[in-house]
Amino acid sequence: MDVKIGVLALQGNVSEHIDAFVLALDRLGCGRSSEVVTVRHPADLEGCQALALPGGESTTISRLIDKNHLYEPIRTFPGGIFATCAGMVLIATHVDDARIHTLNLIDMTVDRNAFGRQRESFETDLPIDSLGGESFHAIFIRAPVATHAGTSVKVLSRLDQGIVAVEQEKHMALSFHPELGGDTRLHERFLKKIGI
Ligand code: GLN
Repeated sequence: MDVKIGVLALQGNVSEHIDAFVLALDRLGCGRSSEVVTVRHPADLEGCQALALPGGESTTISRLIDKNHLYEPIRTFPGGIFATCAGMVLIATHVDDARIHTLNLIDMTVDRNAFGRQRESFETDLPIDSLGGESFHAIFIRAPVATHAGTSVKVLSRLDQGIVAVEQEKHMALSFHPELGGDTRLHERFLKKIGI
């Protein structure tokens, strides 16, 4: 296999990310020469060019990352990381919740559950810089936002509450759920960015 993508499979939207990456790889013309695998232990990361950190419950995922000895292997993972929702919380340098053992891979401060209870879930058409100004139908579920991003971070989209899409080097983080809904443009953009 030429391309191997891992999806962290400790808790959360795992199968949706696997399906979305399979579809995105197909649409990029490398479906036959690629595989998408689940990552539960450090050895599962071997040979992966990218890793997805899915949405779910960030405090639970953080605890399981530590328990499964994945913290250091993910922090030093040489490939690109595609982090969504709870994943965006985990990949940040600063989070408003001391229970999160942050991976410190994207220089930003993240607020969990930034949209409050009454707006726990909503959908909106979001203009995203890296999609050539096109909008993306984004699904937000108890979503975080970044309230501050460092100068090395490229902000791709924001709402009134804060930043909802960023890139830093090989990594991409999104507050919403691109794996739901069948639109794989952001998965494709990420894969192209890391040279696939
Ligand atoms: N609010 C959740 C958390 O901080 C994230 C929600 C999600 O991933 N859909 O863990």
